[in-house]
Amino acid sequence: MPWDESLQEVRRRCRDEIGALDRALAGGELDEGDWYRLVNASLIDAYLASDDPYWQSGFRGDARRWELHRRPVADAILGSLTERVARIRERAHVPHLAFVMIGESPPAEVYIHRLERLGARVGASVSRVPLPAGVALSDLERTLGDLNADEVVDGILVQMPLPDHLTGADLSHVVDIRKDVDGVTIQNVGRLYLGVEGQAPPTALAMMQMLASAGVEATGRHAVVVGRSNVVGHPVTELLLQQDATVTVTHRQTGDLGALTRQAEILMVGAGDPGLITRDMISDGVVIIDAGINVTEHGVVGDVAFDECREAAAAITPVPGGVGPVTNAMLLRNLVDSAEQRVD
Ligand code: NAD
Repeated sequence: MPWDESLQEVRRRCRDEIGALDRALAGGELDEGDWYRLVNASLIDAYLASDDPYWQSGFRGDARRWELHRRPVADAILGSLTERVARIRERAHVPHLAFVMIGESPPAEVYIHRLERLGARVGASVSRVPLPAGVALSDLERTLGDLNADEVVDGILVQMPLPDHLTGADLSHVVDIRKDVDGVTIQNVGRLYLGVEGQAPPTALAMMQMLASAGVEATGRHAVVVGRSNVVGHPVTELLLQQDATVTVTHRQTGDLGALTRQAEILMVGAGDPGLITRDMISDGVVIIDAGINVTEHGVVGDVAFDECREAAAAITPVPGGVGPVTNAMLLRNLVDSAEQRVD
């Protein structure tokens, strides 16, 4: 489809979405995810209606184009899952995710609501397993044992971060490896590091998916990873190495972060530090994948100062709406993988 036609199509879809969300707003039915969608759709629509020379020039660079295409990345994954779930359901099984929620937390509420809706969209089911805020480690372990034994359950997700009194609890040996959709068990971590098939953490998978969706080959490139946590930096480092990238891993104790990030052809960021990566810390043409999600007084922002970096970057993921929706799709993909293996 030529660019101008595809822009009209995008604009039409934005308008449809804004109309639907406006109706939901009037009925008081908007959740946090809807707000993001409304803001994003309105912004894109406004850009497309504007005389902004950036748009007129036919998407110089890839940054804006990527912004437009981020939802289709998640949509494409969810579309393929719908077909796979239909085949599983033909065998009288419904893929099922159990979400263990400890205490009451508005972000966890929003997250589960989003997962329930996405699950319903592909034909999977999601249940809440609420535990009191002060739950003892032994009770949490017993609950996980029950879920491991429950034939209905294909995937188990424990809400993170754990409350303070459980911090340091090692759940990596408690969840059944066949239901480990978050890739946290010792076995799945080991498989990732050995490069054999297993379940990897969804955020790291989503970051690699964004790279692939932008048509970027990691092979032979210098990738710099900011953050080394078990859910983001560490696993994405392994996935990059599997694709023969040269990887530099940085973290809070790294001396001159900018000196390293400026060398990056691919910059993968998951630090939890809003606006950490600024324009002076990147080189022109870098591809930036930002997994950071930080709630600030200015709203939800990533770890990369998006507005100042977007012009220099060949491609950049926005926050909100970049890696996040794709992570949810990857979590469901892990769930469907688990369900397929369990019905086989
Ligand atoms: P974490 O606190 O466990 O790890 C953060 C890592 O970043 C650490 O290795 C730390 O050394 C490093 N770091 C922190 N500040 C730094 C700095 N100033 N310079 C260099 N390195 C620094 O956090 P996490 O769980 O890995 O989450 C990181 C971010 O990713 C958070 O914003 C979180 O909300 C987000 N996140 C997003 C998703 C998603 O789906 N997109 C999923 C999980 C986490």
